[in-house]
Amino acid sequence: MLLPADPKANYLAHADEIRAAIDRVLNSGHYILGPEVDAFEKEFAAYCGASEAISVANGTEAIEVALRALGVPAGARIATVANTVTATISAIQQIGATPVFVEIDPDTMVMDPAALESVLEREGSSVKAVVPVHLYGQPARMAAIVEIARRHGIPVVEDCAQAHGAATSGKRVGSWGDLAAFSFYPTKNLGAIGDGGAVTTCNAVLAERVRLVRQYGWKTRYVAEVPGRNSRLDELQAAILRVKLRYLDTENNTRRTLASRYSDRLKSSRVRVPSVPGGDTHAFHQYTVRTKQRDALKEFLHARGIACGVLYPVPIHHQPAYRDPAIRLPHTEQACAEVLCLPCHPGITPADVDRVSDAIVGWQGPT
Ligand SMILES: *Cc1c(COP(=O)(O)O)cnc(C)c1O
Repeated sequence: MLLPADPKANYLAHADEIRAAIDRVLNSGHYILGPEVDAFEKEFAAYCGASEAISVANGTEAIEVALRALGVPAGARIATVANTVTATISAIQQIGATPVFVEIDPDTMVMDPAALESVLEREGSSVKAVVPVHLYGQPARMAAIVEIARRHGIPVVEDCAQAHGAATSGKRVGSWGDLAAFSFYPTKNLGAIGDGGAVTTCNAVLAERVRLVRQYGWKTRYVAEVPGRNSRLDELQAAILRVKLRYLDTENNTRRTLASRYSDRLKSSRVRVPSVPGGDTHAFHQYTVRTKQRDALKEFLHARGIACGVLYPVPIHHQPAYRDPAIRLPHTEQACAEVLCLPCHPGITPADVDRVSDAIVGWQGPT
C-alpha cells in the first residue's frame, strides 16, 4: 500500500545517524534543556531566517505559547482559517480566546488577505492577533497579511506546522510573523520520533517571553517572573531533529520534484492540480488535488493500493465541538468537500507517482 506519509521510511533513511545521536544523548546525562536543544534551536532559527527559535513540546503548544507571550488576553478574538487541523483552534481556546474565521483564496486555499481586511473592519478592535496557516506547505500571502495586520496594530503568528522550508517573496516562513509556530510531529516535513515543536521570531523581547512561558515562567531557577507552564522539547528529540534538519532541503526538493511530476502527468485528467503563485517556494507537505467526486476517487485509488489523505474533510465551523450555522465560508466549505492529498514524500519514487497518475488518468468518475 502506498501511504500518505511514511515516518518509518524516513527513520530508516537516516537510521545510523539517528542511533548515534540517541547514544550521544543517553551517554551525556543531559535529558532536558541541554546542549542538543541549544544547538538545535540555533540551527533551526538560522534555517528559517529567524533570529531565535525556542523549542516546545508540540505544534499546538507552540501556537499557544506564542499567543501567551504576546499577551493576547482571555476573551480576545483571533483571526484564522477554518480549513486547518483542529489543533490551531485548540491552541486559541487554551488561552481563552475564540477564533474568527477568514475566507480562503479559492485557488491556493490559504487565507485571503482581502477577506482578512474585511474581517478586521467588521470586528473592530476585538481581534487581537492573526494566525495564518501555510496549508499543505503553500505559504499564505505574508507580505499582504503582515501589512494589513500592522495597519490594524495587531500581531501575526504564523502556523508553519506544514511548511518547514517554504518561502514567499524570497523569505522563508517562520521569519514573517511577530512569532511563528512549528510542529515536529513525525509525519511533518521535519519530523521527530515523538512530539516536538518550536516558536521562531526575529524579536528578542518576544523570544525572551516565550522562553519564560515555556518553563514555569522561570527567569532564574525556581523564581517565576510571569505565570508559565511546562512545554519543553527533550534532548533526544532535539538530537534526532538535528540529524533530520541536515536533510530537510534535499527532502523538500524531492517533494517538489514529485509534485511537478504529478502536475505534468495529471494535466489531462479530471482533477484540478495545485496552482503555486510565482515567487513562492511550496514545501509540498501535501500534494492536494481537487474534484467534486473526491470520495469516489479516494475509494477508487484505495482499491488499487493507494491510500490518500483528506486534509481536512470538515471545516472547523461544521465540527460538533465548534458548530456555528451562522458562519458561511463558501470557498472553505467547497475546498473541504473536494480536496484529496496524494502520496508525495521522500519515501516514494517517481515510478509510484506514475502509477498513481496513471490510475487517476484512467479513472472514469463515479459509476
Ligand atoms: C500538525 C499541525 C498542528 C499541530 O501540531 P502538533 O505537533 O500535532 O500539536 C498545528 N497546525 C497545523 C496546520 C498542523 O498541520
